[in-house]
Amino acid sequence: MAGPVKTEAVVLRSMRYGEADRILHVYTPMRGKLSAIAKGVRRSRSRFGGRLEPFFRLNLELHEGRSDLMTVTGAETVSAFAELRSDERALTSAAKACDSLGRVFDSGEPHPEVFNLLCSALGLLDEHPELGGDEFLVAFRLKLLLAAGFAPQLAACASCGEGDGLVGFSPAAGGVVCTSCEAGSFELDDQTHRFMTAALGSPLSATPRADARVIGLADRAVTETAAHHGQVRLKAIS
Ligand SMILES: [Zn+2]
Repeated sequence: MAGPVKTEAVVLRSMRYGEADRILHVYTPMRGKLSAIAKGVRRSRSRFGGRLEPFFRLNLELHEGRSDLMTVTGAETVSAFAELRSDERALTSAAKACDSLGRVFDSGEPHPEVFNLLCSALGLLDEHPELGGDEFLVAFRLKLLLAAGFAPQLAACASCGEGDGLVGFSPAAGGVVCTSCEAGSFELDDQTHRFMTAALGSPLSATPRADARVIGLADRAVTETAAHHGQVRLKAIS
């Protein structure tokens, strides 16, 4: 459908293009991830100002032509999330959250709940930059997997349903596994299992803290599940 499009959007990536243009990857509630070119945006008198930068939440006006690349014709700031930009940890978490989201939801399918998840994550990091960190990112990634329909099963063995003696994590089975089903799994200790359960089940604002070993193991479970069930390659967490 060609013509004008109005949508809310969060800028996931903003790349220089040519002399004065930018190519944006944005995430929208009803059109998923889309790409758009903003012409003349790097000239000092551009009407877009500095708002076509990562993490800006915008009301965008776009023109949809025949190519996959839409053209930005207008942009109004809904939220700049200025505070998170002044905290390195929050900024890194925001960048990695946007990258992860763009990989798991890399299409034009509508997922308004994923848009809301992203906005609430950015809002939290903006209000409470101290929440930033690898735990936050693992928790965000777990919620992305949940929205994508392949959250790891953590309550019982993903192969046989056994509730006790859960000793490993099997990306192929899609969750924790018991001693009888541990083939093809890696060891997952109680502490990491508890962290993942809490991170998946709590709001992002209540993500528990964990040490680097636990975070690394939890993220291995997350990235290997995403690779196995969603053919998604997530970047290493740190
Ligand atoms: Zn089992």
